[in-house]
Amino acid sequence: MARPRIYRKDQQCPRCGSNWLPKCGRSRGKQTCRCGQCLYHFTPGAEHPHQPEGVRKLAVDPYTARSSLEAIRGGCWG
Ligand SMILES: [Zn+2]
Repeated sequence: MARPRIYRKDQQCPRCGSNWLPKCGRSRGKQTCRCGQCLYHFTPGAEHPHQPEGVRKLAVDPYTARSSLEAIRGGCWG
């Protein structure tokens, strides 16, 4: 059985823009995430507290966006 990749439709890596965030959780009261693509650690909401939807879409490259969409359709996220 292959483990499904954890895609987040509400979070993305600020470094590479990937939605593949297999390590997201709370640590010492802070929520931290690790990008599954570039292994970058970050705190969701700390650097981009209220990022507009348009900016977020521009930050995602087409290939990543399409892959995420397919993952959502396939139910491989969450
Ligand atoms: Zn990344």
